[in-house]
Amino acid sequence: MTAATPKKQSNKQSNKQSNKQSKRLKKLTKQTRRIARKRAEKVLYGRGHPLEELLELGLTWIAYVVVIAIPPVTSLYRNLAFSWNSVVTSPAAKWIGLASERQQSAEQSPDKTELKPGNKVGRFTVTSGVGLRKSPGGKGSADHQGVDLDTPIGTRVYAPRNTTVKCLQSTRGGKGASFKGVRGQVTLWHLSRCSNGNKKAGELIALTGNSGTATTGPHLHVEIRLGGDIVNPQMRDVVPLLKIKPRGEFSLELYKNWVSAQESAHNYSAVNPHSGALGKYQFMPGTLRSTAQNCPGVSPTISSSVFLASPQAQEKIMDCYLAQGWKLLQGKADDPDIQCRMLASYHYSGDPTKFRDTTPQTYKGKPYPSIAQYSKSVCREILP
Ligand SMILES: [Zn+2]
Repeated sequence: MTAATPKKQSNKQSNKQSNKQSKRLKKLTKQTRRIARKRAEKVLYGRGHPLEELLELGLTWIAYVVVIAIPPVTSLYRNLAFSWNSVVTSPAAKWIGLASERQQSAEQSPDKTELKPGNKVGRFTVTSGVGLRKSPGGKGSADHQGVDLDTPIGTRVYAPRNTTVKCLQSTRGGKGASFKGVRGQVTLWHLSRCSNGNKKAGELIALTGNSGTATTGPHLHVEIRLGGDIVNPQMRDVVPLLKIKPRGEFSLELYKNWVSAQESAHNYSAVNPHSGALGKYQFMPGTLRSTAQNCPGVSPTISSSVFLASPQAQEKIMDCYLAQGWKLLQGKADDPDIQCRMLASYHYSGDPTKFRDTTPQTYKGKPYPSIAQYSKSVCREILP
C-alpha cells in the first residue's frame, strides 16, 4: 500500500505533466497553424489579410489627406478651374456647343485671354502659368502665383496707367515693383531696375532682369491680385506693361527698308572698308554677279563700279535676291516673326533654315553674332 500511494501519486503527476504537455502542444499547433495561415495568405494575397491591407490603405490615405492634400487644396481648386477653362475654350468644346456665352465674349475680345504657357505676348512667350508646377531647377516656386515671360535682361516695363510705383526687395524675388494696373494690383519680380513714385501712363518704370534666388534665368514675373486674391493675368494686363503693338504682316518691303537704313543709311554709294560690301543694301562683291545671273534687266557681268553708280541696278538686284530667299521659305512658316527671321537668316548665311543656329560667326578673323542672334535682333526691330 505504501508503495502504491507514491505510484498513484506519480501516475497523477505524470497525468498532469502530459496534460500540460498536450496543452503546450495544442498552443504550439495553434501558433504553427496561424503562422502557416499567414504564410498562405501572403502567398494568396501578396502581403497580409485583405482586411489588414484595407486598414493600412485607409490609414495611409488619412495621413495623405491631412499632411499632403489639405494645404494646397485652394491652389488645386484654382488649377482645376483653369484646366476647365482651357477645356471649354478648346475648339472641340466649340464644336460640340459647350462654349458658354462668357467664353464667346472672351473670344470676341482677345485682350481678355488668360495667359497660359506657350502663349505669345508680342515677341515674348509665356514660359510658366499660375498654379501648381514642378519647381523650376529646384529654385522657383512650386505653387506659382503669376505668369513668367521670357524677357531678356533690360526689357523696358511701362506704367499701364497713371499710378504710384512702390519698389520692393526680397531674397527670392529680388528686385520687385508693386502698383495699380489695368485690373487690380500688379507685382513684378526679378527686375534689374525699378523706379519709385508717381508715374504717368506709358512712363518707363522698370527694367526686367534676373534678380533673386528663385530664378533660373532672365524673365519677368507678373502677378495680379484682385481684392487680395491671385488671378490669372490676361493679355490686357500685360500688353500695356511691355507696350506691345499689334503685330502686322511681314513683307519684303519692310525688310528691304530696314536693311538699307541699317546697313548704309540709304546711301547708294556706301562701301564698307572692312568687308568691301557695296551700296545701299551692302552687297558682297562675290555674290553680286551670281544674284544678277537670274535677275531680268541687270547685266550678269555687272562690275562693282557700275553697280555702285546705278541705284536702279541696286534696287533690282536686291529685289531679285530677296525674292529668291522668299521662295525658299514659302510654306515653311506662317508666323510673321519666323518668316522675318528666316529671311534674315537667308540674308546673313544664305540658308533660311539656319535661323536658330547659335554658333558664333567670324569673318576674316573678326567675330560676328550667330545667325540666331542676328535674325532675332533684326526682326525685333522690323516687327516690334
Ligand atoms: Zn514666376
